[in-house]
Amino acid sequence: MIVFTEIAALKAHLRTERFAAAHEGKVLQVGFVPTMGYLHEGHASLLRYARKNNDLVVLSIFVNPIQFGPNEDFDRYPRDPDKDKHLAEREGVDVIFLPSVEEMYPQPTKTIVRVEELTERLCGAARPGHFDGVTTVVSKLLHIVSPNRAYFGQKDAQQAAVVAQMVNDLNMDVEIVPCPIVREEDGLALSSRNVYLEPEQRQAALVLSRSLRDAEQTVRENDQITAGEIFRQITRSIALEPAAQIDYVEISYFPSLIALPDSMSVKDAEGDILIAVAVKFGATRLIDNIILAKEVS
Ligand code: AMP
Repeated sequence: MIVFTEIAALKAHLRTERFAAAHEGKVLQVGFVPTMGYLHEGHASLLRYARKNNDLVVLSIFVNPIQFGPNEDFDRYPRDPDKDKHLAEREGVDVIFLPSVEEMYPQPTKTIVRVEELTERLCGAARPGHFDGVTTVVSKLLHIVSPNRAYFGQKDAQQAAVVAQMVNDLNMDVEIVPCPIVREEDGLALSSRNVYLEPEQRQAALVLSRSLRDAEQTVRENDQITAGEIFRQITRSIALEPAAQIDYVEISYFPSLIALPDSMSVKDAEGDILIAVAVKFGATRLIDNIILAKEVS
């Protein structure tokens, strides 16, 4: 495993690897997993998908300042590059890209990649500018690595949809591979931010996955249940948790992220449905979601 901190050195290495493969008559397949580090089993699962389907696996670890709002947790976002390297080694990563902020942004970027509409709701409404930061950095990273496939977790379903839209709109030559959410045994979706939670908040945070599971069950059992009723069921259940403060509960078509009308029966809706929640526990904001695929709903 090689660790690069410089863009030029990483590009040169990837060029050499591609050239060597071409020399043997092969096209090197590169799988890429972009992260902000403080790796956990959710990230590990993406690395495993990448390892399985590519010749070379590149992991990037970069806490991207331009996707954090002024009052968000950029400075205190957890970082542990040594531990991350061990996990990466264990998962058979070939290359880690670990740039500094100065390497990625030697001067403030004057180019912003923005995906319209998809970024205006859910996390985009609560975090203005966040997705511009994400699409700009992901675009830079995709240009640097030029992977055949890039792996994104459905934990950040809106992010996966936004990146897929960007890649499609800009004719980028990469396949965006969405990967399922990895959870703790008790249901809590793994997140680097879970370390912020006090023990009581950690317990209270189970309301996210529980309310989503209950909603799925309700949809299964009731043909007529409407989006509005599901919304109220989830908000009621989260409101019972005194430590929880709802940021949003949204029921939308996926991946368009267009809201279902309140009166629409969830089962009758065309296509996949995303039920997404964002809830604050003190200063810590957690997100979770469930996608009801057409076969299920
Ligand atoms: P982050 O380091 O939080 O920016 O996440 C990097 C990638 O890992 C993103 O594509 C996330 O969606 C994905 N990811 C984070 N947590 C999970 C999880 N619990 N299950 C699956 N993927 C995840």
